[in-house]
Amino acid sequence: MQTNNHLHRIAPEKVIRGEKAWLEAKTLIPSICQKPLLLGRSKCTKEIRNILSSELNLIGLNVIQEELEYDCCEIDLKRIYSIAKYSSCDAIIACGGGKVLDSGKLIANRLNLPSITIPLSASTCAGWTALANIYSTKGAFIKDEVLDKCPRLLVFDYNFVREAPKRTLASGIADALAKWYEASISSIKSNDALVQQAVQMARILRDQLLIDSKEALKNPDSLAWIKVAEGCSLTAGLIGGIGGDKCRTAGAHAVHNGLTQLNFKEKSLHGELVGFGILVQLTIEELLTKNQLALQARKQLIQLLLDLDLPTNIQSLGLSSTKKQDLEKACIFACKIDSEIHNLPFRVNKNILMKALLDSNKLDLILNKQRNLIQDKG
Ligand SMILES: [Zn+2]
Repeated sequence: MQTNNHLHRIAPEKVIRGEKAWLEAKTLIPSICQKPLLLGRSKCTKEIRNILSSELNLIGLNVIQEELEYDCCEIDLKRIYSIAKYSSCDAIIACGGGKVLDSGKLIANRLNLPSITIPLSASTCAGWTALANIYSTKGAFIKDEVLDKCPRLLVFDYNFVREAPKRTLASGIADALAKWYEASISSIKSNDALVQQAVQMARILRDQLLIDSKEALKNPDSLAWIKVAEGCSLTAGLIGGIGGDKCRTAGAHAVHNGLTQLNFKEKSLHGELVGFGILVQLTIEELLTKNQLALQARKQLIQLLLDLDLPTNIQSLGLSSTKKQDLEKACIFACKIDSEIHNLPFRVNKNILMKALLDSNKLDLILNKQRNLIQDKG
């Protein structure tokens, strides 16, 4: 018998998705707010943000535009919070990648205002969820925060998302794949039907990604692209919403959180680290349970990640000159008492994680060599 109640924050109140989602969103936004703060970050999305802002002003809204300086971090959050508060803004529109969307949702949550998310890439499901990750100014993961609700409106306009660099979609695919690898193992002892059904959705999403990812990356005008981009940005969020905290993150995200504590030559995207984290999680499973299926799953996943040009080892993550002590620090962080790594059904400590990190690197290098040999012969 289940004795506890479960509170779910399943989905945005409204989701508009399609080729002209923005046009339809424009008819809805005036019923949500009159003086929104439109939040963004990178230079390359400035033009689209300016267009959205002036289009909203044209239909009578009074838009205030602001930009983040860093990832989703407290310095920025406090600054934008004050601007929104003292300008009497009545909603936050977050327009950008995962960290912008998380920041917008967090500020809206703290001000008790509605949030509107407009993803400009399919790199995460942050446009959907009632969760946000907080980082340091250097991009080191600090904590995640559960929000009171999902966004009031999610606008998933294909034309906006298609403009994003290819790398962001590949990264989103790795992040969405993690749903299956993490949820299926962390929920292994759950007899909650909603959790089990969410895990099955994660399996279907994984299969869809296995089938369609390569085509989606090659051809942004294909149906495969729509399936994959929506899978990463929408379905992945829905799975988290239905499954709740029993169906979320485990080893892969814990490895991501640990690795963000290190200094990178070039900064990796969220899903790039999570993808490598899945490989490490599977290695832990192999080491601790001698499960040969985990080895098979890891080999299969390495092939897919390589096909998508995603990093599969410490070297390709730009951490080749990282000292062993630093990797150990990342492992200590990933094994903190409140880390999601402890959602795995076996006990993991920093020594096991360190071994898995190094072992996972070894297999990857062997497979990479074999692959290069085959390609050379071909
Ligand atoms: Zn993630």
